[in-house]
Amino acid sequence: MKQTIADKVKTRKTFAIISHPDAGKTTITEQLLLFGGAIRQAGTVKGKKSGKFAKSDWMEIEKQRGISVTSSVMQVDYDGLQINILDTPGHEDFSEDTYRTLMAVDSAVMVIDSGKGIEPQTKKLFKVCRMRGIPIFTFINKLDRDGREPLDLITELEEVLEIDAYPMNWPMGMGKGFLGIYDIYNNRVELTHPEQNGGNDFLPINEDGAIDGDFEITKSSTYTQAMEDVLLLKEAGNEFSEEAIAKGELTPVFFGSALTGFGVHTFLDAYIDFAPSPSAHKTESGEIVEPGKEELSGFVFKIQANMNPAHRDRIAFVRICSGEFEPGMDVIVNRTSKKMKLAHTTQFMADSRENVKSAVAGDIIGLYDTGNLQIGDTIYEGKEPLQFEALPQFTPELFMKVTPKNVMKQKSFYKGIQQLVQEGAIQLYKTYHTEEFILGAVGQLQFEVFEYRLKNEYNSEVEMTPMGSKIARWIDEEDLDVNMSSSRNLLCKDRFDHPVFLFENQFAMRWFEDKYPDIHLTALL
Ligand code: GDP
Repeated sequence: MKQTIADKVKTRKTFAIISHPDAGKTTITEQLLLFGGAIRQAGTVKGKKSGKFAKSDWMEIEKQRGISVTSSVMQVDYDGLQINILDTPGHEDFSEDTYRTLMAVDSAVMVIDSGKGIEPQTKKLFKVCRMRGIPIFTFINKLDRDGREPLDLITELEEVLEIDAYPMNWPMGMGKGFLGIYDIYNNRVELTHPEQNGGNDFLPINEDGAIDGDFEITKSSTYTQAMEDVLLLKEAGNEFSEEAIAKGELTPVFFGSALTGFGVHTFLDAYIDFAPSPSAHKTESGEIVEPGKEELSGFVFKIQANMNPAHRDRIAFVRICSGEFEPGMDVIVNRTSKKMKLAHTTQFMADSRENVKSAVAGDIIGLYDTGNLQIGDTIYEGKEPLQFEALPQFTPELFMKVTPKNVMKQKSFYKGIQQLVQEGAIQLYKTYHTEEFILGAVGQLQFEVFEYRLKNEYNSEVEMTPMGSKIARWIDEEDLDVNMSSSRNLLCKDRFDHPVFLFENQFAMRWFEDKYPDIHLTALL
């Protein structure tokens, strides 16, 4: 029987792995790719030295640093499903693209280092997922090392992130004494030392919550302790609720060790039981577009420029929301009402890019673009114009003053800035009165990409003066008195001419709030 579009959509799971650098995102991603057998990705997961990844001609910065500037997409076939993993780079590669990638997924996996708990970048990325109300699954990693007490980690997770947690399994010891996990969800114990327990990887748990039979592990106090912890959790912990998971209000928590591969398979199997398939998307006019709808639709969430400097090409990453992609089909770009033939599309492979033959909701396709597409653009097929809800803007934290080096080349400077800002590569602010240009970003890399692209694509060299980190807060036009501004809260306007203060630090902001208690300051996301 022929599969309908809706049938195909049900086989898709599209997610991102979020974490603070070094928590183990790359290691766990590689495990997942391994289970799938096929590795498909754009660029590198993270600067791997293997020649396999060296074929793509990324822009110069990427080559120098051995990283992929923007998030990559990986496809894995697993258990009859097509899993799409969207990478969210960390460290200095962190940028607005990282946040925007979270707009294109249906769920997220949060990886936490058991020795460190909740770290700043995890918190930031979590916030974006929470705002979207998507399911968030937690993997507490590095149990093969001595880390913090599991109960302590769960408490921190709930308190810092303000989300309920439900342990799907519970560790039996850690570090050298890590014996495995007591798997609450699957009613079994998973062992790190099967050889000491009759060669069993798993032992079933009986009605009393104990292992039947005389195995080495049953003599261990670590096992007894875990069993007692689980009993306590069952009595005093949160209720398991599929509905709460779906709404992103309850996070199922798994323990394991990505490096040794322990618990990752168990995690993945439970994850696919609960992770949602692509759901409906809302348009600006409030219409709901079902993923099984016949006509193709999707939105651009990222643009990667200069994949090949010789051709000056760009790739627009499109998240498909409905319909079925076929090579050569025509779509309309809603913003410009222009028709576009989807002739040069790509999906992402380890060592090559392949032409897409078929794709449905949840899948990500790359469109070669010569400047017709912008971040946030909707493409659609059919007669009814369609515009998906705008992608959110994110509060920048880093700022730079920027001026052209050569005053004779002001025209290309302005054109370049305008286009890069429109594309979403960077945010633009101007000082309120003197209209000096200030760039805002969430990550340092955005400035480097900006400088590089302005020089290479617009032939404009710039002087960049770091202003460091600031706290940007918007104020209503009616509330604004220009005398409120001082050296510690620079008054600027954003690209829509809305007034915004750049506060030196938390202290300066609190001082302002105390002085003007009636003034309401707002942040972007
Ligand atoms: P990412 O920055 O989040 O992508 O982290 P990586 O996957 O690159 O891991 C950072 C470091 O932690 C690497 O040296 C890994 O080998 C190590 N690592 C990752 N997972 C584990 C684990 O489960 N146990 C231990 N001991 N080390 C791990």
